[in-house]
Amino acid sequence: MAQPATTKQKQYLKRLGYAADPNSLTKERASQQIDILLTQERESGRQFPCPYCKGKFGPRPKRRKKCPHCGNSIVHLVGKFYTEQQAGELYQKEWWRDSRSDVAEQVRDDYKENKSFEREFRETLTVGYIIKPGPHCPHVHHLRGLIVPLEDAKASPELLPPYDGCNHDTCECEYNEVGPGEVPRGTRVAQFSSPSRRSSSTAAVTRTTNRRQHKSAFPHVLHLVLTILTCGMWLPIWLIHYLIWASS
Ligand SMILES: [Zn+2]
Ligand SMILES: [Zn+2]
Repeated sequence: MAQPATTKQKQYLKRLGYAADPNSLTKERASQQIDILLTQERESGRQFPCPYCKGKFGPRPKRRKKCPHCGNSIVHLVGKFYTEQQAGELYQKEWWRDSRSDVAEQVRDDYKENKSFEREFRETLTVGYIIKPGPHCPHVHHLRGLIVPLEDAKASPELLPPYDGCNHDTCECEYNEVGPGEVPRGTRVAQFSSPSRRSSSTAAVTRTTNRRQHKSAFPHVLHLVLTILTCGMWLPIWLIHYLIWASS
């Protein structure tokens, strides 16, 4: 079956002045229509205002163009012109959105896989993820080596990278899935620094108390309440959390 036109193609067509409904086009037809409209536009001698100086330029470049008036680099994205800074912000937004949904999907998959593994083999496959901040993200270096338990990651995927302040150009932050035997001794659990900041994201992730300093109290009451509320389903997490806490 023919693939439908992509969102970007439809956006491009609209910006090129495509009059009909692009939703009925196939991907291939959309691409042909874009070529036709681009040729018509070039022949018409259409001009565009520079996003920096508003001076007119034409024809439309494929990707980038130096403005003939101010010399700044104009970026062409899906039919529109942007300054380099605007384009960077758009890339960043898109990267952030894609990364967030990729992480959530990955965690969901791992969670499901772990559940079926537990059912089949009565053993845990994945206990969680170890955070590995990238070299260009010093704002999260304090999270290095912390573990995000699988349950926590599922409930709050924003505990995993990328984090606020990570940049699409430079971020190499990673998280590595670990099994029960792969958690190094003394590994600490990543947590949100305060419940009120839960929604605000990962900048709030902090390192829990160092074990050479005093150890913070284990939240048995919280786990008990959660276990009751979930009809016992929280019990394994209580145990894992306790084991990790006890070994730290
Ligand atoms: Zn200009
Ligand atoms: Zn990063």
